Amino acid sequence: MQKICFGNRSREGGQRLAKIMSVKDTARRHVNNPLHIFYRLFTQRPAEVDQPSCKTTRTNATSRSTRDRIAVLRSLLRESQLALRRKTKIVNQKLKVVVGKLNCYFFLVFPGCDKYKHESGLIAFRPDSSSSPIAASVPISHPIRRSRRLCTLNSIRPSSALRDHRAMASIAFINGTVVLPDRLIDNGMVCTIDSKITYAGQCAEIPDDAEIIDANGGMLSPGFIDLHVHGGAGADFMDGTPEAVITACAAHLRHGTTTIFPTTTTGSEHQIMNTIDACGTAKQRLSQQISGVANIAGVHLYGPYFAEDKVGCHSENGRRSPVAAEFHRYFDTGLIRIATCAAELPGADEFYDMGRQHKCLITCGHSNSTWSEMQRAFDAGMRHVDHFWCAMSSVPSIRQRCNVPMQGSMAEFVLMSADMSTEVIADGWHLAPELLEFAFRMKGPERLCLVTDCNRAMDMPAGEYRFGCPTDGTMFRSDGKVGWAPNGSLASSIMGMDHMVRHMKRSTSANLAQVIRMASLTPAERTGIAHETGSLEAGKRADILVMDEDLNVVSVFVGGKKISG
Ligand SMILES: [Zn+2]
Ligand SMILES: [Zn+2]
Repeated sequence: MQKICFGNRSREGGQRLAKIMSVKDTARRHVNNPLHIFYRLFTQRPAEVDQPSCKTTRTNATSRSTRDRIAVLRSLLRESQLALRRKTKIVNQKLKVVVGKLNCYFFLVFPGCDKYKHESGLIAFRPDSSSSPIAASVPISHPIRRSRRLCTLNSIRPSSALRDHRAMASIAFINGTVVLPDRLIDNGMVCTIDSKITYAGQCAEIPDDAEIIDANGGMLSPGFIDLHVHGGAGADFMDGTPEAVITACAAHLRHGTTTIFPTTTTGSEHQIMNTIDACGTAKQRLSQQISGVANIAGVHLYGPYFAEDKVGCHSENGRRSPVAAEFHRYFDTGLIRIATCAAELPGADEFYDMGRQHKCLITCGHSNSTWSEMQRAFDAGMRHVDHFWCAMSSVPSIRQRCNVPMQGSMAEFVLMSADMSTEVIADGWHLAPELLEFAFRMKGPERLCLVTDCNRAMDMPAGEYRFGCPTDGTMFRSDGKVGWAPNGSLASSIMGMDHMVRHMKRSTSANLAQVIRMASLTPAERTGIAHETGSLEAGKRADILVMDEDLNVVSVFVGGKKISG
């Protein structure tokens, strides 16, 4: 029998736990396990410590002052780096915290057993409270995580994550390249419990109650996030019904977009309010578990505050300058997360101020603004420009507007300001490869987002469609590749985010991790949701794509639930 004990502050609890957690005879194998040695060190029974190796000898030092213990623990943790690397990076970080505040905590340290080869663990608790563990390196598969009886110990109240483990669905995504924001991990693994990611890294032992999803040598990627999208599968968000919103979201989900910002265009106050309300209702239905639809993170209030000379393919009738009474109603819904307004319009300052109060990503789009107007907008909180090179000012367009001396435009302002981000429509029709490469090199993967700017013609046959509202939106023609306005200019894209990712990868020097970042973590960071989604990281929502080697979406998971593929 092998003992599992607490640190010195809770010997009694440890003995009780030892009874519960007794495991078979593996003492020999684990005698050199640094954590096991550490446990022995802390139980202050040096006589029991075996001495088959120099490591053990070191722990057998006679001094037992706290400072010495910390020093020994540090060296043990250094030595155990290899063992710990099999667990998550987070664990290592937490262990650092533990080492730094050793005095404050006591530890539950236990070795592995035959069934869970080589696995050992450590949980740290505050001794003076019965609160949740403050750090844990317990492998998910270890019996301690399964033991409900752990809850009965007086001194420990495990966090709900430990307590409810059995009731939760666990998935292990294996045999794929894990795409992290800064690198790829070949032969990686992603584990989830319920709606959260618990592990992303090198292939490790698979939790034995986990459902296995085999990526077949393909990619394991975070779900995409689309900041700027008007519709799909025949539906435009401006149709103003929850059904249309859900149809468009579901279509984009099949293309890998797990977080979406439905985007308004020009229209009457009533039409825009309808769209915002419909998004609110759709979002609510989703939270009541209507599956098959992307997560609506919030509405992108894009139209109607466009500049008169930069309306593009949108309906001119529905364009206007911002009116406080009107946009207060929009913001009051609490659903607006991205707020666009052309910087040169009267009332823009107040609009930006409102956007800042609601913690929105504030953007300038469909604008012919000058450098000084951009600077003023920046001071008011504007940090992003919609679809770079499309419907925005340039030095020649400013010269037309303001004559000489020639002035800087939105383009120069974005390129020169490190804090400004922007987005590209990388469908292959809006921008040539050199412009995509230029935008990537100038702004880098942390300030450039991929967006679809997709209209209702995605996944629909070629033909005539209406952009925006079904009654008075402008007409455009889809040729099955892109939308065309009657005057021969482009009328936004008809492609999903998977297409943008493939095209960006093919057409630029950005590596795969960078391309995926621009479609996931970067938009998440810019909109303030990176703490919950946007990358494969323990603790974030399990929004995961399985893609083949050519970056075609094979299956889509939102919050740990498979909803496409
Ligand atoms: Zn636009
Ligand atoms: Zn658009």
